[in-house]
Amino acid sequence: MPQPANPVLIDDLVIANHILVNQGVLDGFGHISTRHDKDPGRFLIARSMAPGLVTADDVVQVDLDGKVHDDRGRHTYVERFIHSEIYRARPDVQAVIHSHSPAVIPFGITGARLRPICHMSGFLGAQTPVFEIRHSAGESSDLLIRNQDLGKALADCLGQAAVALLRGHGNVVTGISIQQVVFRAIYTESNARLQSEAMRMGEINFLTPGEAEATADMNDQHLDRPWQVWKKQALQRS
Ligand code: MN
Repeated sequence: MPQPANPVLIDDLVIANHILVNQGVLDGFGHISTRHDKDPGRFLIARSMAPGLVTADDVVQVDLDGKVHDDRGRHTYVERFIHSEIYRARPDVQAVIHSHSPAVIPFGITGARLRPICHMSGFLGAQTPVFEIRHSAGESSDLLIRNQDLGKALADCLGQAAVALLRGHGNVVTGISIQQVVFRAIYTESNARLQSEAMRMGEINFLTPGEAEATADMNDQHLDRPWQVWKKQALQRS
């Protein structure tokens, strides 16, 4: 019998699924997890299903080897190793999102690097790493993070960054809470869209590393404000 997690945490995870669909970060694919509040060796994630349909009853527990612990024997996403290996490598991380949010994709497949262009996305830091799965899985993989070795290689590429891109696939976003990781995923998509537009206009004046750090700290003081409105909008539409 898995140790029950805080019901508030489960409710926040459920609403985060709906917010991320509503904000165009997740669609029929992608997932968000949060570390178990009483067992740091486990995380909570929906069973394998569309994020927009997730309820509290769909949340299962997974350990850091990617093994699901569920009384009903349910399965979760094949790419759960993204989450398990990041939680293993990064004790500071309490929540992870993997998405295919569209505006970010071009930055994984070209020489253009995703960097913070405005004060809402300072968490991107100096530069966003890009994970090249060919280095681990060869020339003919399906690009999915399907096992522990690929999850570890991705976590190594992420390092201490907040966000990493997966070439030809999507991105992974980390945070110290569900509210922070949702904020970051939404503004990663927004920064990518705006950076693409700005690149067509001319040379970009990016945030300095110091500005990136200061604006990230500032935004972390106000995470509840956007969370409340995104939550209300998601509830109205679900
Ligand atoms: Mn994926």
